[in-house]
Amino acid sequence: MTRKYNLFALGISITFLCMASCSRGTVPGRIDRLKAERDLAMGGGASGETATDKPVELGKKSKKSKSKKSKSTASNHHTVEKLPQPVKADPFLVDTAFANQTYDKLTQDYADTILAKPAERIKDVQYGEAFVGTTNFNLRKPQYVIIHHTSQNSLKQTVYTFTLERTQVSAHYVISRDGTVQHMLNDYLRAWQAGKGRWNNIDDMNSCSIGIELDNNGVEPFTDKQIDALLKVLQALKERFAIPQSNFIGHGDYAPVRKNDPNVNFPWAKLASKGFGYWYGDTTGVEVPKDFNEYLALRIIGYDVSDVSKAIIAFRRHFCGIESTAKVLSPAERKVLYKLYTKYL
Ligand SMILES: [Zn+2]
Repeated sequence: MTRKYNLFALGISITFLCMASCSRGTVPGRIDRLKAERDLAMGGGASGETATDKPVELGKKSKKSKSKKSKSTASNHHTVEKLPQPVKADPFLVDTAFANQTYDKLTQDYADTILAKPAERIKDVQYGEAFVGTTNFNLRKPQYVIIHHTSQNSLKQTVYTFTLERTQVSAHYVISRDGTVQHMLNDYLRAWQAGKGRWNNIDDMNSCSIGIELDNNGVEPFTDKQIDALLKVLQALKERFAIPQSNFIGHGDYAPVRKNDPNVNFPWAKLASKGFGYWYGDTTGVEVPKDFNEYLALRIIGYDVSDVSKAIIAFRRHFCGIESTAKVLSPAERKVLYKLYTKYL
């Protein structure tokens, strides 16, 4: 029953998230094993209320209700009896038990990897006879924050998407329009959120960043409550992991060929004023040198300029608040770029 429902839900799920899949690095067969375990667990009806059971049960109650009401209003010919309304299945009902079971199993597997002594040996290397562990170490810390919009219609829909294995996408945090924060992955673990792209010389951003998804349909403005919640999360992350001010960027900055999030309404200036990302400030009186090289300036800021027109579009969206496919910077945009790049030197 559950499996049938899941297939149905998968079929209607909208999965055109802004996120990109990336290499998983999981142990082959692990997911199949987890699925088999889930099927075994669900087969006995142990989960109680399943998605398919729910509407059926409610439907029965509605019938009873109708029957009682018919008796009580039989003498009133002017009463228009309401027919029971069909109960729609929730298309984004998360299988929380399975999601958390999977989460626990995966974290245990990764813990086993960390505990291995010695770690995976390198071929043809002569190792010492005995493993001797150093006594001085701790966990590696993320050094970037990548901000996204979900291109979906609710936090619930995104949480649902992030608990479907087939989507192969995730993020550490999802922040709803009302400011509710859903923390879905330990900050020390690697979410599948940034995907293919490049910033500076980093092309595996998932390995060194925290991904934050903002619930947003892709074109609408972001709410004040949402941004306030984001700022609180960013402040905590910046302090906890000592993330440099320059390293708070958008998915569209990292992957300008594929992505445009967060959309042009995102308040980057406000974030920069709080210490998350740089801003160019006042360009009044700025004179751009005639030999100023836009290509190099974009590269110094961090953009991948292998497709420079895409880098220009991403830069313009982020720093000028303009969504345009124009391949050439305007004089005003050129001033912004000139003033901005000096902050990255
Ligand atoms: Zn994204």
